[in-house]
Amino acid sequence: MSTSGKTAHFVAPRTRRQIEAIANAVREHLGIRSGGRIAMQPILEFALDDLVEGAYYDIVNDAELGGAEGMTRGTEPVILLSASCYMRLGRSDNRARMTVAHELGHLLLHSGRHVFHFEEPLNDPRFDPEWQADEFAAALLMPREAFSQMKTVQQAMATFGVSKAAAIRRARVIKIRLSDGRHSYGHDKKKGYGMTRTP
Ligand SMILES: [Zn+2]
Repeated sequence: MSTSGKTAHFVAPRTRRQIEAIANAVREHLGIRSGGRIAMQPILEFALDDLVEGAYYDIVNDAELGGAEGMTRGTEPVILLSASCYMRLGRSDNRARMTVAHELGHLLLHSGRHVFHFEEPLNDPRFDPEWQADEFAAALLMPREAFSQMKTVQQAMATFGVSKAAAIRRARVIKIRLSDGRHSYGHDKKKGYGMTRTP
């Protein structure tokens, strides 16, 4: 959840590769061997304290989060999830899975750390806690090596339990192309990023 007020919030910068290494270390630590869909609910229920000492989650009324699906406290290692997000997680909803992975990123990368406040936004996403949490979530749910084997959007969605938008974003980052039968998404060696029609 973004908490941007008048000033901009920044954290110690991390590169995409650094964040990916942390996500891979989490997978390793939790003994996740398969490159496929990872079960987020057991991580939430049983592994938070193992990853960050004393960490836990709580379910709160949707209204309490002001429309956000989740948030992680900066001062203590606590993830708050909206009741509706938690219900959807139980049904393995893709967006709820992504929300939990994103909050897990905040928990690991930002909880209890310094947050810097600037009057002007910095033009570098690597300082942005939201960018970092998004990168962590993508790397946790769609590990680079397994994801680079994907050929179609549908295959990636089914394999990793992610939304179409998340799969396409990951394809761009990893620089592979995914087809959905009509279009081809991701990275084009000649044209760079974007969408093209499949020949
Ligand atoms: Zn966030």
